[in-house]
Amino acid sequence: MPALESNTRIAVIGAGAMGSGIAQVAAQAGHPVFLHDQREGAAEAGRAGIARQLQRRVDKGKMSQQALDDIVGRIHPVAALEEVAEAGLVIEAIVEDLDIKRALLSRLEALCTDDTILATNTSSLSVTALGAGMKHPERLVGMHFFNPAPLMALVEVVRGLATDPTVAETVHATASRWGKKPVYATSTPGFIVNRVARPFYAESLRLLQEQAADAATLDALMREAGQFRMGAFELTDLIGHDVNYAVTCSVFNAYYQDPRFLPSLIQQELVAAGRLGRKSGQGFYRYG
Ligand code: NAD
Repeated sequence: MPALESNTRIAVIGAGAMGSGIAQVAAQAGHPVFLHDQREGAAEAGRAGIARQLQRRVDKGKMSQQALDDIVGRIHPVAALEEVAEAGLVIEAIVEDLDIKRALLSRLEALCTDDTILATNTSSLSVTALGAGMKHPERLVGMHFFNPAPLMALVEVVRGLATDPTVAETVHATASRWGKKPVYATSTPGFIVNRVARPFYAESLRLLQEQAADAATLDALMREAGQFRMGAFELTDLIGHDVNYAVTCSVFNAYYQDPRFLPSLIQQELVAAGRLGRKSGQGFYRYG
């Protein structure tokens, strides 16, 4: 199947870390992008954050001011969900919660045209289960970007049991056109990357709990001796502990509470304290 044309409207729901990044990727590829968040002002803040990021590239001479203005000008924050009705592809990047995502998908299905593709950026929830409440689950596909979306090439294109193969192919081709490296995955808990990464987070958190070393030392060891780009603590601070903890809980429950995926009490406490990482100014480290 061919990629979506660059004049196809793309809607992104959720203007947090991932939604803003995805909106930027789609706008850079030439699409008009409609960005919606239920939190007042969040979509505007998302667009302002994108402009700030791109300004750094302009300042370094890596991008023209005109290119920045064009990209940002293609991003339209919208206050009402109804305003995304004309989109050819809607990508949801809201909170990692099955019931909340299902409710959103039902609303989208009622609003959008019959041939609108609905995509979910879920990190771990079953695409099959997300589609189960839909009238046409064949139009739902996982389009799982990595953080930060404008920089990370990989996109997992996740097929649920009901996903129409041509829908997955269109999203795969579109991700390629956006300069990404898409891979197909089926709807197993955590898909590929988040499944493989679980033991990395879990063992690092166990080491911390056992006081083997502090977070900074463990991160430095993984970077310098392990050749990882980031250690588990700086990486989960970047991902957001609410998101990372929700993903671990979801994979743990999906595998019938297999102790290999046991969520960490340390991370549970961070979430309870609102220490979500970079986005809240404090996680394992302090920011700002
Ligand atoms: P985030 O907390 O930064 O942003 C989520 C945004 O969604 C918030 O602005 C919130 O106001 C909004 N929102 C919540 N419910 C909504 C609703 N019903 N309607 C409209 N807006 C709503 O979270 P994030 O890190 O951007 O993660 C979003 C999704 O992307 C999750 O499913 C997560 O698992 C997935 N994901 C996250 C990462 C990561 O590293 N953070 C990576 C890949 C995928």
